[in-house]
Amino acid sequence: MPKRRKKRKTKLLGVVLLFIFILIILLGGLIMLNNKNKDNISVKNEIKKEKVTNNLDKAPVDSNSYSLLADGEYVTEKGYTLKKDKGISYVDGYMIVNKTYSLPSDFVPQNPYSGSVDGDWCINCIDKEAMEAFKLMQSDAKTLGLNIYISSGFRGYNRQVTLYNNYVNRDGVEAADRYSARPGHSEHQSGLCFDLNSIDDSFTYTEEGKWINNNAHLYGFIIRFPKGLENETGYQYESWHLRYVGKDLAMKIYNNGNWLSLEGYFGLSSVY
Ligand SMILES: [Zn+2]
Repeated sequence: MPKRRKKRKTKLLGVVLLFIFILIILLGGLIMLNNKNKDNISVKNEIKKEKVTNNLDKAPVDSNSYSLLADGEYVTEKGYTLKKDKGISYVDGYMIVNKTYSLPSDFVPQNPYSGSVDGDWCINCIDKEAMEAFKLMQSDAKTLGLNIYISSGFRGYNRQVTLYNNYVNRDGVEAADRYSARPGHSEHQSGLCFDLNSIDDSFTYTEEGKWINNNAHLYGFIIRFPKGLENETGYQYESWHLRYVGKDLAMKIYNNGNWLSLEGYFGLSSVY
């Protein structure tokens, strides 16, 4: 082969190799750019998802179970109207506080028995109407020789922070969530509930506990966490925790002695 031809062939090979090299770099760049875009899109989607979840926070957790009625208003799967007002959720006018629906951290009972809310832990700070119903129930029980008293009433947000953290440190999050509410999710902050007597399972088997189970609804109270309905309420059975809802609703939830849950009745969730 003549020398010149060989030289030209080498030159051509060099150009081809350079071309391939540039092509590889360009392709690599394109692939990287594409991936970056994908990442951006998925980050954008995440943000979008988060926004939607936040909007529906303490309202529909499972969007299939609810339908949007108007801004901030929903219809539960049982056909009740769920409304949010100043961060507080109401179903047909009843305030709902559970694992799904929380209260603002600065919320305190608006019409307390004591006239004003003083401190983070206060029995007389529970709602006036609820307290008057309790006093009537207490005096009726007394005529039967039963001693019923409130051991824990209103608990403020900060009090619940301490309480819940202590339980988590002792038993872990999973166990604590079965019997204690996270701050903002405790019904005790609403002032519409209280714990009676010993605040433990032993209350269930006392004469007082049995009487409460059969008669609390006549005064407008419900057993808020009935036996066997942890999957609905999100909490273990608590025979001592009563919630005031008024006589009409209490009668329905009492369900001839086969207590329903507030969640089951209204078609609400109670999950974190
Ligand atoms: Zn309680």
